[in-house]
Amino acid sequence: MRTNGHRHVILIFSPFVIIYSPTHSLRTINYQSFSHHLPLLKWTHTVVESPPRSFMKSCYQVKYFNDFINLTRNNRSFSLTQLDQICWHTTKQFVTFTEDSTSTSFIDSLHVQFKVKCFTSLLPTLNELKVRRPDLYNNHDWTCFNSSHMKHFDGSIRLTRCRAEETADHLWSCPVTVDKIRVIIRNTVLRIHADLRSLDKSKVSNISMDRLMQLECWSLEKSESFNFLDNMRCLIPNFLFKVLIDFGCS
Ligand SMILES: [Zn+2]
Repeated sequence: MRTNGHRHVILIFSPFVIIYSPTHSLRTINYQSFSHHLPLLKWTHTVVESPPRSFMKSCYQVKYFNDFINLTRNNRSFSLTQLDQICWHTTKQFVTFTEDSTSTSFIDSLHVQFKVKCFTSLLPTLNELKVRRPDLYNNHDWTCFNSSHMKHFDGSIRLTRCRAEETADHLWSCPVTVDKIRVIIRNTVLRIHADLRSLDKSKVSNISMDRLMQLECWSLEKSESFNFLDNMRCLIPNFLFKVLIDFGCS
């Protein structure tokens, strides 16, 4: 703690250590000073104008987010963040959203649990279980469970199992189930369009439906840009957010 010529108390905060004097020696805070002189909070020579509590809360949230986004499993989210393609504010609201905010039901809890597992890439897929419990899941032949009927050259129809590794991405892009996923995507866009129509009929038309349908976030093709597999990590793309704002959402 130090006192300037006007007897204002100045606290200098480093990210996680409070330094009370210019010489970095710790001193006891004289709380009586605060009754007459408002403290001035500074962060690396910049005056902090927001309330100290919310400021420190933001600092810790930034630290935890930074730790999280730098995890190896979040490489994809990290690169999308660098491309400014994720709306983190909406993503956070979506992951923690429950139907009834006043109470917690088992169904709500299960929904949030599932979203967090998708978000953190911790769905118990076979690939993940092989890493977690190599003593139990130790057969490299155990791959995706899906199988399809294949017609062979002799006319016989045989059940052929998908030989791809079961990863979180493969769940939504497996060749055996990809047609069903396309139907789900189509129905999702129709549902969004119907909800937009109920909000403001004047802003939706066949053109707006095409505009929604053409967004990259419905694409099942793996690319550098945001695609459907990123949707299934519970990430919300910035461009979808902006389109919804254009249609009158707030
Ligand atoms: Zn498969």
